[in-house]
Amino acid sequence: MTVEAQKSLDRETRDRLVEGIAARLGVRAERGRRFAELTSLRVGGEIDWVVAPETEEQAAAAAGALDEADVPWRVLGAGSNVLADDERHGYVVVTMREVKGEARFDGERVSVSAGYSLPRLCVDAARKGLSGIEGLNGIPGTVGGALWMNAGAFGHEIGTVVETVRVARGGRIVEVPGEKIKWDYRHTSFRDGELVLGATLRLKFDDAEKIGARMEESKRRRMETQPHGARSAGCFFKNPPGSGLSTGKMIDELGLKGERRGGARVSDVHANFIVTEGEDARASDALALAEEIRARIRRERGVELEYEVELWRSRAPESSEAQDATADSARANDAAGQTDDAAKEGQ
Ligand SMILES: Cc1cc2nc3c(=O)[nH]c(=O)nc-3n(C[C@H](O)[C@H](O)[C@H](O)COP(=O)(O)OP(=O)(O)OC[C@H]3O[C@@H](n4cnc5c(N)ncnc54)[C@H](O)[C@@H]3O)c2cc1C
Repeated sequence: MTVEAQKSLDRETRDRLVEGIAARLGVRAERGRRFAELTSLRVGGEIDWVVAPETEEQAAAAAGALDEADVPWRVLGAGSNVLADDERHGYVVVTMREVKGEARFDGERVSVSAGYSLPRLCVDAARKGLSGIEGLNGIPGTVGGALWMNAGAFGHEIGTVVETVRVARGGRIVEVPGEKIKWDYRHTSFRDGELVLGATLRLKFDDAEKIGARMEESKRRRMETQPHGARSAGCFFKNPPGSGLSTGKMIDELGLKGERRGGARVSDVHANFIVTEGEDARASDALALAEEIRARIRRERGVELEYEVELWRSRAPESSEAQDATADSARANDAAGQTDDAAKEGQ
């Protein structure tokens, strides 16, 4: 769905179409939700419609019907990698959080829906004595969000254990073999606008105690190096590719830990984490702080930082505003932003 297409539908027509689709499919559709309720940074403006399917079939049908009706939409998981601006977002957000079902284990395989919590899946797998994802335990997203960008940490990446992925195409569920997908460093070959519905992972039996110890170890490392209980989206910027430089270290060396703009602050624990605080925190605070960091790093280190967090804009950016293509990193579809390579550093 293009931004032009978004403009061509007037609001009333679009509202009618969304209501009709939701009623026909028996899917909950709500107005007036805010990104501040749906993202881990707890900031961001009003969303025209949030559509909340509960099964993979419903999600596929909803995506197909929205496409057919030319209604722009994008998909949200747990919102742990998204900074949405403070304005009204004139598109539909398909939230996958209710598409969670149960994780179904069969020997070394597990089939799981996109809305299932990734940390919960890691714990489930460990209890079954299955290894392969224990390093992902502390990543606070959904399985769908993790698949979308090949989430990883502490030597584990989800893409390495994927047998098949279920995606929505033309309103139906299509199963794609894992080897047909390119699983790069925090980046995959899923197409823009592709809705990931679930996956079958192939894990490996191992000693449950050893798996537990590895989970404990990754938890300990996270607790030591990251702010916990804080409102963040993980690392805000990528490490400059191929440079061996650590963005967190560079920000720290400029003395920016604790730097504040309104309700946003550079974490004292990890300088590449921006945290938001208080009821009045705004997305614009976090963005202003992020831009200040980028300017300082550019000036003093000659390095152009790229966003790792996805910036979701309510409007298409003006070309002059496009500080780099990755800043407007909407990958779900191009209803309101651009594509992000989302190459996430191990956090
Ligand atoms: C404290 C903290 C620590 C973190 N540590 C790590 C880490 O160690 N490693 C790491 O890789 N990440 C880390 N992250 C970032 C984040 O948790 C991951 O990127 C996670 O995989 C995002 O999942 P999500 O469900 O929250 O996705 P969202 O933030 O909701 O969405 C992110 C992107 O995925 C797309 N998406 C989500 N679900 C689907 C779907 N079903 N189909 C198609 N597209 C979809 C969205 O459209 C969006 O483009 C951390 C974040 C926090 C807050």
